[in-house]
Amino acid sequence: MACAFFHFSENNPKKSAIKINESKEFKGRYEANICTQCGECASVCPVEAIYKEGEVYRINRDKCISCYACKDACPENAIVVYCEGEPPIKCDLCGECAKICPTKSLYMEVN
Ligand code: SF4
Ligand code: SF4
Repeated sequence: MACAFFHFSENNPKKSAIKINESKEFKGRYEANICTQCGECASVCPVEAIYKEGEVYRINRDKCISCYACKDACPENAIVVYCEGEPPIKCDLCGECAKICPTKSLYMEVN
């Protein structure tokens, strides 16, 4: 919710770049799928819509042709398609999720 509100001013979890899923390994536990800024998505984008700015890979929504090759390539399942035909979203390291996490399960590592 924090992610969607920060980026879209909407209380709409569909528009969050971070998803919480039940663990396949540990029943009753949950995991967050998190972008590691590995750059795999950028390397497969056919129109170079994903670019690196500092430590962050960002999607240029104006260039994107919504082919979703980046979603298929992401090893962390961290590219989110919230609406077919629209450019996907991904984490841009804003840190809003970590700020609000009550148990500090999410945290930012600053190099
Ligand atoms: S969205 Fe996926 S492929 Fe792209 S940088 Fe993040 S983890 Fe890597
Ligand atoms: S969906 Fe957009 S950002 Fe992703 S690979 Fe296709 S054109 Fe590039």
